[in-house]
Amino acid sequence: MRLRNSVVAALALSSLSCLPLLGQGQSSVKPKPKVVVVGVNGMELDVIRPLLLQGKMPNLSSVIKKGAYGKLRTVSAPNCPRVYSTLFTSTKPEEHGVTGFIVGGITANTNMLKEEPIWSMLSKNGVTVGMANVPATFPVMPVNGYMISGMLTRGKNCEDGVLCAPKLSEVEGGDAVYPSALKAELLKNVGDFYIDCERMPAASDLKGHESEVINAWLSKVQLIRDQQTQMFDYMLDHHPMEFTWLGQSCEDRTGHWLYPIAPYNAGYNPKINAVRTEAFPDQYIAFDKVLGAILKHIDESTYVIIVSDHGIKPLREFEDADPHAHMDHEKTTPVVAKHDFADGDDVPGSFFAIGPGIKHDLRLMGFEASVYDIAPTILHLYGIQQPVQMRGHVLSEIFEGSDKVVAQK
Ligand SMILES: [Zn+2]
Repeated sequence: MRLRNSVVAALALSSLSCLPLLGQGQSSVKPKPKVVVVGVNGMELDVIRPLLLQGKMPNLSSVIKKGAYGKLRTVSAPNCPRVYSTLFTSTKPEEHGVTGFIVGGITANTNMLKEEPIWSMLSKNGVTVGMANVPATFPVMPVNGYMISGMLTRGKNCEDGVLCAPKLSEVEGGDAVYPSALKAELLKNVGDFYIDCERMPAASDLKGHESEVINAWLSKVQLIRDQQTQMFDYMLDHHPMEFTWLGQSCEDRTGHWLYPIAPYNAGYNPKINAVRTEAFPDQYIAFDKVLGAILKHIDESTYVIIVSDHGIKPLREFEDADPHAHMDHEKTTPVVAKHDFADGDDVPGSFFAIGPGIKHDLRLMGFEASVYDIAPTILHLYGIQQPVQMRGHVLSEIFEGSDKVVAQK
């Protein structure tokens, strides 16, 4: 609550109305950079690389050619709220407080954040901020712009908020939209969209109806993605901000139980895993279309950062001893792939960046970039000093003219 109140105070004092005041006589004021971050939950490079080679992800391919990319070192036992809150704050999970889906028996939420998130820092510095469907942003917090929550939003038939999809009108237990007037505008102009991806079906739902349930679930996933894309399109068109962060979460959800594994992999069940072997790769082909829709709003002077919190891999050695290894976070879906391995280096995230002064076709080798580095790098683009609690560094190696400069804190 301390963070929430401090942003409210800063917003009251500063900048919501400052943009219209810029006029004649102030033309020398340098416009702030435009940055769009696209967060993908659980982007797996092993699955993406063959798709890039086959030309099935043309938009991501163009980003790679025009920019810098590589693996992104993540935290141990990575999962979405744990890593996203590190992306927001550049602090350890134990420091920011959002250590997992459930913390002290309560579903992870923004009131738990003990370190200041980047949307608050940017807002205080007069940067306009828009965030939509970004995981672990419920209930929404005041920003110098708008915030629409994402994964872990609570609602009807989704009271715990874990991995389920309330519609905007069904949200309960907190606000999913800031400012509140934006909710009616969205309902009117975008419709009653699903806030997050669909919860995975339980083993009991699947039994005897595998193909039917899988096909219906995948159709719903695409419906949700289409609605999200429409919402992104609307916000980018009608409420452009200097800093925008958009999130996607259906890819990871699909990978957990439909990762295209072979019969020798742990958990293989032909009734499920032989039905739609293209389902998981198809999620990235669909993501690439979303990326294309976002890129239509972007010009040469805009930075685009695509970031994933972790990868996802088939179950592996040591997992047999874990009674929950073959179940999802809710312990009901038979999963064949996961990401919360003790060693986060087993499932690195990924990072792609383009924009003014960012090197072209630069591949970051090893673990040069980590989830701790995203927030400092974004602050750097706006000329904002990295606060002392942040553990990452500015990724200065991705910028032109910094060949020999290894990033420093
Ligand atoms: Zn997951």
